[in-house]
Amino acid sequence: MSATVREIIRILEETAPPAHQEEYDNSGLLCGDLRREVRGILVCLDTTEAVLEEAARLGCNLVVSHHPIVFRGLKRLTGATYVERVVMQAIRQDIAVYAIHTNLDSMYVNGVNSRIAEKLELLDTRILAPKDVWRQVRLPLPAALLEPFKSGLGANGGGEVLSALHSAGGDEVLCELRFDAARQKNIEKYVAALHLPALQRAVWQNALGPHPGVGGGMIGELPFPMSGVDFLHYLKTRMQTQCVRHTAFTGRDIRRVAVCGGAGSFLLKTAISQGADAYVSADFKYHEFFDADGQLLIADIGHYESEQFTIHLLQEIISSNFPNFAVYCAKTSTNPVHYY
Ligand SMILES: [Zn+2]
Repeated sequence: MSATVREIIRILEETAPPAHQEEYDNSGLLCGDLRREVRGILVCLDTTEAVLEEAARLGCNLVVSHHPIVFRGLKRLTGATYVERVVMQAIRQDIAVYAIHTNLDSMYVNGVNSRIAEKLELLDTRILAPKDVWRQVRLPLPAALLEPFKSGLGANGGGEVLSALHSAGGDEVLCELRFDAARQKNIEKYVAALHLPALQRAVWQNALGPHPGVGGGMIGELPFPMSGVDFLHYLKTRMQTQCVRHTAFTGRDIRRVAVCGGAGSFLLKTAISQGADAYVSADFKYHEFFDADGQLLIADIGHYESEQFTIHLLQEIISSNFPNFAVYCAKTSTNPVHYY
């Protein structure tokens, strides 16, 4: 089985459309040629020189990294910083580097936070801060086409049929379809290919309201309530972390838990407003711990630790689509933080 860099990326972008990355982010192909035949793939959190060496050792010429090594733009390549050295090494070794960052953070299905929620066995999960990325189209369809239209949607961008009103004569239905903005091109293509007689009467619009499948963080319920101390123990075991920085126990049992992989202090208020008993994230600063204000337990488990299972997630996404392909999880720990 063979695949090009472009074919591998297509699978990753079906899972996490790049349109869902934050404005400040730089996800996507950072270096390399889309047409290049892929010999092997190494998945990691950070593209470092050691990771590139591991890739080369394994015969991989594509590195799929959660964090983008090039983030703010590069003005020169002299090897003066580790970022410059990594990029130079990737080019020299002919290794393509692809980053899938905040777009992967924001997916409800197969996202960074869904993996954390699975590790903690959270139930009834939902996105903590859903994004307003719904789009909508009102489309007149010949009545006989409604069912085939619905069944073809899955493979063509998905979406949700909100209503289908039959006309007075019964030969036409006004179908109202809601979909993720990142899938708009696929939906447009699908609709155009149907050659509908009344296509000019279709009304495309931005839908108001947040999309439950896309956004920041996740919240859910523990399988059983536990004390603060027991929860921290559970957290350390499940997330394989040696150290949790946390606020004072609130005295209440922990049942509802919000999570956000990586730097998640920006969602603390949302977690409190949704009644979370604990908020599991990373990169909290001293003064941000005060903001818990006795309302919940902040548990900072470390940035790398919170995202380490993302590596397996990416490996699974690629392998399930290319079962005979060599996809390795990086053995090099790229965590720059050490505990003594
Ligand atoms: Zn991160």
